[in-house]
Amino acid sequence: MLSGPSGVGKGSVVAELRRRHPEVWVSVSVTTRSPRPGEIDGVQYHFVDAAEFDRMARAGELLEQASYAQNCYGTPRRPVEQRLAAGLPALLEIDLQGARQVRAALPDARLVFLTPPSWPELVRRLTDRGTEDDERVRRRLEHARAELAAEPEFDRAIVNDTVGQAAERLVALMLI
Ligand code: 5GP
Repeated sequence: MLSGPSGVGKGSVVAELRRRHPEVWVSVSVTTRSPRPGEIDGVQYHFVDAAEFDRMARAGELLEQASYAQNCYGTPRRPVEQRLAAGLPALLEIDLQGARQVRAALPDARLVFLTPPSWPELVRRLTDRGTEDDERVRRRLEHARAELAAEPEFDRAIVNDTVGQAAERLVALMLI
């Protein structure tokens, strides 16, 4: 399972991994956020409305769930459990709140933490969007600093210096 602070590039690393290693099974999360240009329902996410998300959560269909930037995200439980029951690896890309729930639900899961090459680089990535006021940026940086402190909770860490290298390191860890 891959996690790490917001803005570190988890999504890009997993997208690169899927491109290079289409044989790796990646869990498709449900989310209430709207698709971004180029995103396809059922590929990057299953896009659902809030009522459907709530129904899934209440029915116990989610392995973990979290909210981020006013949207809800969750991992459908059954596909992951089916993979694991068959002895096959599964990759989950989730935020820290979710990582802690997976740790509790699946004690054998291997938790991989993606770190930025440096703090200034993460600051650059989080502030580069250029569209937000100072207060929002300040809060996001504070949040990222707290998230970085969670690294010791993880089994392994990978530095996201280039997405290609990070993707290859992640695949290597899955095969061990
Ligand atoms: P984005 O909206 O940019 O695709 O994702 C926002 C954040 O939600 C990222 O930190 C991503 O890792 C996280 N995320 C995506 N899917 C899930 C999920 O199923 N569960 C949890 N807990 N976080 C997720």
